[in-house]
Amino acid sequence: MIDWNAFIFPLLSASFPETDIDHMQQILRLIPSVEHCLLALLQDAEFETIPLMLLKKGIRAVLDDQRQKVLAGHKVEPSNLDLSVLLQSIKLKIRELHQPVFRRVINGTGVVIHTNLGRSVLPGDALSQLSETSGNYSNLEFDLTTGERGSRYSLVEELLCELTGAEAALVVNNNAAAVLIALDTLARKKEVIVSRGQLVEIGGSFRIPDVMARSGAELIEVGATNRTHLKDYRNAITPDTGLLLKVHTSNYCIIGFTSEVSNKELVSLGKKHQIPVMEDLGSGCLVDLSPYGLKKEPTVQEVVASGMDVVTFSGDKLLGGPQAGIILGSRKIIERIKRNPMNRALRIDKFTLSALESILRLYRAPQTVFERVPTLNMISTPIEAIQHKAKQLAEVLQKSISTCCTVQITEVMSRVGGGAMPEQNLPSRAVVLHPLSMKLKHLEEKMRQLDTPIIGRVENDRLLLDMRTVRSDELHLIAKGLCQALAPQL
Ligand SMILES: *Cc1c(COP(=O)(O)O)cnc(C)c1O
Repeated sequence: MIDWNAFIFPLLSASFPETDIDHMQQILRLIPSVEHCLLALLQDAEFETIPLMLLKKGIRAVLDDQRQKVLAGHKVEPSNLDLSVLLQSIKLKIRELHQPVFRRVINGTGVVIHTNLGRSVLPGDALSQLSETSGNYSNLEFDLTTGERGSRYSLVEELLCELTGAEAALVVNNNAAAVLIALDTLARKKEVIVSRGQLVEIGGSFRIPDVMARSGAELIEVGATNRTHLKDYRNAITPDTGLLLKVHTSNYCIIGFTSEVSNKELVSLGKKHQIPVMEDLGSGCLVDLSPYGLKKEPTVQEVVASGMDVVTFSGDKLLGGPQAGIILGSRKIIERIKRNPMNRALRIDKFTLSALESILRLYRAPQTVFERVPTLNMISTPIEAIQHKAKQLAEVLQKSISTCCTVQITEVMSRVGGGAMPEQNLPSRAVVLHPLSMKLKHLEEKMRQLDTPIIGRVENDRLLLDMRTVRSDELHLIAKGLCQALAPQL
């Protein structure tokens, strides 16, 4: 143990008068010892099973906090240093230290594919399969037919080809990795022609020009930001051209006087010059979302059928699966990408493979896929069902928290997110909270600090909980959490 008095007081006497130091010394002596706190804590069965080092860490944090307050000259009431009072803070601190850092939250933002909140939620089928293959040994790289070494990639390749019509497929860590390895394989030390309107940045660190530079390919920009014509591509082709690249402008849109070259035109230009053509689809969707109020976008199958040599997209955006980068293409090109040494560094693990296979299998039944893949389910939920959830929650909250917080239902717009369909909104309903005697910012912070944090959207001095991204079975957690967050006011 550090002898605080011997250690600190010579330093302090320089800046405080004698009498203050005497007083501080008296107060500091009231702070109980770590051992004392520990003994008291272990009377409570909840803390018996928590590792001793964590108990001590929590105790020290609270005691040090008090000590710092005294030393900084703040007024500390002796009664606040009673063991029973300190024990309350210590218990809270230890509970906080003992829970996992990475945990579930409730998404009340209405952004379905929320990158900061983990993008797509996996369905139960995928989770049980994941637990089956990862909680046991598996045939990850073992061919059960021949009894010899197998390839992890073959586990989902056939399924991807069956669903998309592609000749071959490969899955890597994420879509950024898919673009990187495809460029590195096809266009290293060569030129890649891209339209100026498609030089996108996706979430800070993924910028097409930067990825290009890293892959050793040289970027040749053609056209203007709003319009690119076939002749722009044609005129830029040289003997050094390695690839014609199209990038889905996922997270923004150019409107007005615009023009893009169609896949058909680009593919025939590539064929004529024997240059491969690639499209980075970003989100990539296997089903048509236009019946649900979204703009008709070409499906992955349609893009493959347009003759693109390589198509890449994310596993955890509109597909609704785990983080992964899916590369589709001709057998010849996919084999080349597989042999790239970078593939080993970007390879997916068994969790991803297992979850991805489960998700893809759900797409075999188009009648039920919207029901069973949560991302598609949230996008396609009818407004009546969202309204119903909002009403259920509002009724419970009106009974429990209305003395300190107004509760209403309002019309809002949800978004698909994940860079998909930037300009398109989905009509939705939110429960609006307006605390009467607590700052909104404070409530928002308290909700973030709950055991199951609730993340809402702050708009015009109100807190919105958009019911599109909240499941019915989460309503009771929200009600309980809000009571806890507002507890001092209730
Ligand atoms: C999201 C996105 C990426 C990056 O995909 P990750 O799976 O997040 O690595 C690349 N390109 C486009 C067009 C995207 O929308």
